[in-house]
Amino acid sequence: MFSKLNPLKKTDKGSSTHTGFDPYEVLEVRHLTADSFSLRIERRDLVFKAGQCFNVGPMGAIVNREYSIYSGESEPYLEFLIKLVKDGAVSSKLHSLKKGDLVEVAGPYGLFTLNQKNISQNKYVFIATGTGIAPFHSYVKSNPGLNYQIIHGVREARDQHDKATYEPARYTACVSREKGEWFNGRVTEYLKDRALDKDAYYYICGNRKMISEVFDLLTSKQISGDRIITEVFF
Ligand SMILES: Cc1cc2nc3c(=O)[nH]c(=O)nc-3n(C[C@H](O)[C@H](O)[C@H](O)COP(=O)(O)OP(=O)(O)OC[C@H]3O[C@@H](n4cnc5c(N)ncnc54)[C@H](O)[C@@H]3O)c2cc1C
Repeated sequence: MFSKLNPLKKTDKGSSTHTGFDPYEVLEVRHLTADSFSLRIERRDLVFKAGQCFNVGPMGAIVNREYSIYSGESEPYLEFLIKLVKDGAVSSKLHSLKKGDLVEVAGPYGLFTLNQKNISQNKYVFIATGTGIAPFHSYVKSNPGLNYQIIHGVREARDQHDKATYEPARYTACVSREKGEWFNGRVTEYLKDRALDKDAYYYICGNRKMISEVFDLLTSKQISGDRIITEVFF
């Protein structure tokens, strides 16, 4: 068991961060599908805001990548939802970790947070593809009573990870490669024919191409650019 204390630093926003990489113990790796998994590690006394990310890498491997926090602000562990990228330098190594292994972690970083005033009164629309749902899962876990809708683009139905976290009426799956009771198609196709709420805040997370297309679609439907917040994964 690793027992070193982290050199935590309080930031002026009240969150805690540690500036160097420190070893954290793996608590669990959940293999969700052939190419996606969740990595749960010890948290110790790290403080973060839902929507932030950490740099995570295999112990001693020098390389690391950013991963959005999947778990809630009050949960006793840190969890990440990760896609296994074919031949990916870091995701493939994280994928083969076992309970008790160590990973190097630095952070938290990032501003993809629910930083508007009156979080409990705002309306939010969260649009994600694949593991881009990670920050939204953290928002929902961290803010009971949040007024949100999630539109989640996935290839296959089984990619709707931890769907039970979301109230059924607040979660829409757009499944592009499998027909079923969900919307059959991409998130852009789903949004194209929908009336959109101009008073909501729109958060978009995933790959750059999807984000760019959704941004253009939203603004073409008179959603103001200052109500659209984005996080590009790749
Ligand atoms: C702020 C931020 C937060 C992120 N949060 C997450 C997260 O929560 N979960 C997560 O899975 N990834 C997340 N990423 C992506 C992650 O940092 C890595 O880029 C990804 O894991 C690939 O790293 P790798 O070393 O395995 O692949 P590399 O060896 O770096 O190979 C890169 C290749 O993988 C492609 N790629 C990267 N990510 C994906 C993906 N998700 N799907 C398909 N192809 C991809 C790139 O386009 C590129 O072709 C985030 C990225 C950023 C910038």
